[in-house]
Amino acid sequence: MNSTVESQTNPPDSLAERRETLLDLLRQAGVHDARVLQAIRNVPREQFVAPALRAQAYANIALPLEYGQSISQPLMVAMMTQALGLTGTESVLEIGTGSGYQAAILAQCARSVVTIERWPGLAERAARLLGALGYTNVEVHIGDGTLGWPPAAPYDAILVTAAAPSVPEPLVAQLRLHGRLVVPVGSPEQQDLLLVVKQEHGLEQRALGICVFVPLIGAAAWRERFD
Ligand code: SAH
Repeated sequence: MNSTVESQTNPPDSLAERRETLLDLLRQAGVHDARVLQAIRNVPREQFVAPALRAQAYANIALPLEYGQSISQPLMVAMMTQALGLTGTESVLEIGTGSGYQAAILAQCARSVVTIERWPGLAERAARLLGALGYTNVEVHIGDGTLGWPPAAPYDAILVTAAAPSVPEPLVAQLRLHGRLVVPVGSPEQQDLLLVVKQEHGLEQRALGICVFVPLIGAAAWRERFD
């Protein structure tokens, strides 16, 4: 019997397959919030990175952005979002828009998102991309996010995606009672990811793990020289 032997080179996994593999990894690492997992499935991370990096979009790694910044690894994005305990009704403030990817994840999990970026070039590109992807519940602003964004305060949740020397006071002031603030606090080299909950008697604080973020540069954080 004649049989044609076709060459059995495996095609590279599609981005969709890689995304499912990433979701398995996130679940194994302790991401159990269905809203967060669905957001990771829905948001096309490949659109938020440079074209040359698209094949790596669903690897669990941070990827470089312009201006020496980086888009956090997906597990970190998922863990931080999960720690905010979002149910879909919240107003959220993000400091450090970067690519806009984390803002898109938040926009899927909450009612509205205000995000602030100090580099105009990053903020403008993120705003364009989020608009093109149809996010109508995200506002991108250029500015010093260590001062928060008073016009839309108070917020139910605040996420800082850059490393702070201490919990920025203006952000605590703009957090609603019982609101949650997630922020990496430590040295420029390494930080503890802190979950801060505002209670009647003061702030409750829990460390969620070690992390490494690019520095938060601003009036209530570090000065320019660390950038
Ligand atoms: N959340 C982003 C990644 C953030 S990287 C994403 O999903 O892609 C950290 C970002 O914080 C960088 O873009 C950096 O420029 C920004 N940043 C640092 N200090 C800031 C400040 N004071 N206000 C606003 N953005 C700041």
